[in-house]
Amino acid sequence: MTAGGSGAITTRLFAPERGPRPQRPYASGGEVPHTPLRPMWCCRADGQPWPCGQARLLLRVEYDGNLPGLSIYLAGLMYDAMRDLYHLNPHDTPEPTTLFTRFIAWTRRQPA
Ligand SMILES: [Zn+2]
Repeated sequence: MTAGGSGAITTRLFAPERGPRPQRPYASGGEVPHTPLRPMWCCRADGQPWPCGQARLLLRVEYDGNLPGLSIYLAGLMYDAMRDLYHLNPHDTPEPTTLFTRFIAWTRRQPA
């Protein structure tokens, strides 16, 4: 991608495009879905850090047998969450390892 016009050298580093739309897990029966409320990335149904426990259960069901797909979906959202959270409060953000554990690492574990 080239900057329009001036040809000025940019110091901005490449950043990936936006991740997937955070529309999963889908709502059931007209209830408020357990999807992330941006830019805080808390659950819009219960206010917990997203993905909340219910979202994890529902995502595991929706992606039954497709853990790679689930990991890719969540990795895209983790990137968006990092961008939002680091812009929201650059001085008090979760460590990358914390976000990785919160968004992705749990997908390889069996539900408690
Ligand atoms: Zn929730």
